[in-house]
Amino acid sequence: MTTWWDARDADRPLAFTGNPLVRPVTEAHEAEWVQRQLDDPAGRYLAMRRLEALVSGEEPRLAWRDARILGSLSEGAFPVFLGTAEGIPHFAVAVDELEPDEVGAGSAFVDARTLAAQLPAPEVGILGQARALVDWHARHRFCAQCGAPTEHIEGGARRRCVRCDARHYPRVDPSVIMLVEHEGRLLLARRATAPGNRRSCLAGFLEPGESIEEAVTREVFEEAGVTVRDVRYVTSQPWPFPSQLMIGCRSTAVSDEVHVDGTEIASAEWFDRAEVRAAVEGRSAVLDIPGSIAIAYHLIRGWAYEQG
Ligand SMILES: [Zn+2]
Repeated sequence: MTTWWDARDADRPLAFTGNPLVRPVTEAHEAEWVQRQLDDPAGRYLAMRRLEALVSGEEPRLAWRDARILGSLSEGAFPVFLGTAEGIPHFAVAVDELEPDEVGAGSAFVDARTLAAQLPAPEVGILGQARALVDWHARHRFCAQCGAPTEHIEGGARRRCVRCDARHYPRVDPSVIMLVEHEGRLLLARRATAPGNRRSCLAGFLEPGESIEEAVTREVFEEAGVTVRDVRYVTSQPWPFPSQLMIGCRSTAVSDEVHVDGTEIASAEWFDRAEVRAAVEGRSAVLDIPGSIAIAYHLIRGWAYEQG
């Protein structure tokens, strides 16, 4: 028997996972320790302009710079501590006014979706953390409780309100994305805005007061009119656009009757394993699935090659 786990693409980890940087559990929250990291002349800084990361080389790599780049910080920006690698501190910085030629020939600012398919996996993991944190700080300058300005503390692990002292924590927004199967076939949906034959798994945000299982059941019924049971967790992926956690599940439909909502989802159809394998292998004329940076690709691929 080949399970989903056996059939997964083991050579290609989920994009934005596998960040190799280490955050010391206690010290990273101590101001003096964080200051020592900032004072370390070996410190490495990742510049981000409008959330695009600075990379260099024909086969792009993150273009880490030294502390001189701090002279080009955008207004209100500061070095966000990411973690250490072999004792060397790593930071992300917003440098919104910086032009690539100011930081070296052969460098460019590139968006994270593009880079997720180009960088080595550990660098994609760092990029996801950096993008999510830099974006969160830029959008949380005021206290949600009293409206006063907030300031960053603990190297950017938190923000604190200067008036009411409330602590604000970086957001993670959980979403569910699920395989829906029925007697050897898989339900794949085409979003109203999707190009050509592109189909994918159903997905949606969790609502307050909902479990993962309840969110899966609700979303599948809302979008496709299908009732599912036996919801199981499979795997998950951070998705820093801006701060989602994609929770990958599978579920079993009680029947193959489908009624799409007609607005968000244009159509949803059942595909057998041969059809899905053809799509994974890029040789289907009727079915096109998302690329390998998306968890949907991995869920669909694992399903296609598992065997009972
Ligand atoms: Zn406040």
